[in-house]
Amino acid sequence: MTARRPEEATRALSASVRELPGVGPARERALLGLGVRTIGDLLHLIPRSHQDRRTFRRVADLVEGEVATLELEVAGTALRRSGWRRSVLEVTARDGTGTVALVFFNQPWRQDQFRKGARLLVSGTATRREGAWQIVGPDVEEAGAGEAALAVGRLAPVYPLTEGLGQTFLRGAVRHALDRVAGALVDPRPAPPDLPPGPMALPEAWREVHFPGDPASFERARARLAYEECFLLQLAMAVRRARVKLHEETAPLEVPDAEERRLRASFPFAWTAGQEGAAADLRRDLAAPRPMNRLLQGDVGSGKTAVALYAIALAARAGAQAALMAPTEILAAQHLATARAFGARAGLRCELLVGGMGAAARRLVREAAGWGEVDLVIGTHALLVEDVAFARLGLVVIDEQHRFGVLQRAVLREKGLHPHALVMTATPIPRTLALTVYGDLDVTVIPDRPPGRTPVRTTVTSEGRRAEVEERVRERLRRGERAYWVFPLVEDSEALDLPSAVGALEDLRKRVFPGFEVALLHGRQSPAEKAAALEAFRSGAAQVLASTSVVEVGLDVPEATVLVVERAERFGLAQLHQLRGRIGRGAGEAAAWFLAGPGRLGRRRLQALKRTGSGFEIAEADLAIRGPGELAGLRQHGLPDLRIADLAKDFDLLARARRDAFALVERDPGLTGKEAAPFLPALVERYGGEARLLEVG
Ligand code: ADP
Ligand code: MG
Repeated sequence: MTARRPEEATRALSASVRELPGVGPARERALLGLGVRTIGDLLHLIPRSHQDRRTFRRVADLVEGEVATLELEVAGTALRRSGWRRSVLEVTARDGTGTVALVFFNQPWRQDQFRKGARLLVSGTATRREGAWQIVGPDVEEAGAGEAALAVGRLAPVYPLTEGLGQTFLRGAVRHALDRVAGALVDPRPAPPDLPPGPMALPEAWREVHFPGDPASFERARARLAYEECFLLQLAMAVRRARVKLHEETAPLEVPDAEERRLRASFPFAWTAGQEGAAADLRRDLAAPRPMNRLLQGDVGSGKTAVALYAIALAARAGAQAALMAPTEILAAQHLATARAFGARAGLRCELLVGGMGAAARRLVREAAGWGEVDLVIGTHALLVEDVAFARLGLVVIDEQHRFGVLQRAVLREKGLHPHALVMTATPIPRTLALTVYGDLDVTVIPDRPPGRTPVRTTVTSEGRRAEVEERVRERLRRGERAYWVFPLVEDSEALDLPSAVGALEDLRKRVFPGFEVALLHGRQSPAEKAAALEAFRSGAAQVLASTSVVEVGLDVPEATVLVVERAERFGLAQLHQLRGRIGRGAGEAAAWFLAGPGRLGRRRLQALKRTGSGFEIAEADLAIRGPGELAGLRQHGLPDLRIADLAKDFDLLARARRDAFALVERDPGLTGKEAAPFLPALVERYGGEARLLEVG
């Protein structure tokens, strides 16, 4: 065999499906509906399942309603036309034990395929008609096709279907595609011998994933291809990160030990072990001449903000300014309060910059930033869209990353000379997603929480127990506690039969909580209305806050100990977990009630919240149940387009691929060597040329 070059494989795979026999404009369009444009795309159409048609049955052993595979001889055919374009073709076929009628509707041309005496392999569902066996629309192949058999006498692939494409056509097209590229496919390296399912060569894997010898072989092939796919993705990420480290320089932000200790002492509490670890990571990163690019992950209330303020103070001591971006104005204002309280002790000058401020006030802050008279500017998107020129921007902190796109991160970083970047998220990201969506970041996790917090008592219940829930909440309010009451909608809607915050307000005020104050908070209010509602709730003037999921992110009112969520099944688990994080910040036992609508399934899903208080476990459950596309806001990050690997279950493969890819880039950062060469064409094809690879994550 001649040595194949990887370019050849890439070229063969990127040829149009039109080059396959039997694919004209109509089928090309239909294939496009399945996302298939090239031969490579077609191979990536992994069968949904395989039908086991390996064992043959005799006619005498047929069972009504069961799928059976038989070897038969054609005895004769009869074609009946019943109008224009309507016909029934009946093929009589038999083995030594009996006779079966094979019935085909509206395919008169097939009559020629069934010569008398021809031997057939037939597979389909056996039914009885007028005392005789028949199979309607069976899969039929000529006996003796052996290796080439596509659907009979073997595991037959079942593809996702679309209008105008049948299984028979798809099986044939995939087989042609395999034959076409088989010679061009190369193994870029010996298959890793210790992959969990065992090694398999790439060309064999493509064949086996479509036409496997047995179920285990399919799984091994799928894993092999998934590994390859993950490896390429991780290679792109490793290259991107290596480039950032190679080409970007930044001023190291160093603070002497004694100063650092003093700074740390300005916090009113002892840090948790997780916070200590995170602080050490950040201090080390800041002191390096390369820009930090770190994701700080921690459950709600784990103390990320405190750690971020520590990093900001370090930067300020070292002479750099910082920007802290929050997803909402409410949160920005809350961060400002926290930062000011801490800043008063640590000597940090903080300012707010949000859209809701007057033009004059904003100009003052911008000027102060430009003169270097502020250490920390806290804001929302306004920070991005307005032209803030920092005198010495050295650190960018982004809170609740999942609300921000990658692009915004890059824009902000461009405002400084490669500032250090810290991204914080309280949405626990399932492990696989952390390795893909944020794969170019270093990751620090705060696994623990400050002591003295009792877990939230969580109840999943239904409409039927509403009165009881209301009474329990009233009891708590009488004791001086406060409650969030969360709705899936802002206002009642014609299209959706769901409760809304505005729609339910009167009922909450008059019937449920007479004698208490109920404030209203939702995303369509003006900044002033929001601030007023929040202030009322924070101060205790209102004991109940009726709202939408806007309270989900980071709101901190320690007296709030009660959460009720209406139609909780409408929310994602991770989102509900976030909501639950709003309560239980004080010392007393907090309580959450998730009211589920009709239907068992939604309720069963909610039980995961009762089982565990770990955001990470909940995020994994959410991923497994709903798939990655549904997870809070992840779409906007550009989820990697993985067609074979399954983010919900392929963590080990992904981690393994990541290790291998990063090790390769470590050995050969420019990917100029022999080892990297086989991957380059596919890498460029999938993840773009220099331009994309150079992009800052
Ligand atoms: P996160 O941003 O991770 O949700 P925060 O930093 O807002 O968490 O912390 C939540 C609350 O816990 C805040 O009121 C904060 O002052 C407090 N806190 C943070 N770290 C500690 C600690 N080590 N011990 C006690 N309280 C802490
Ligand atoms: Mg926070």
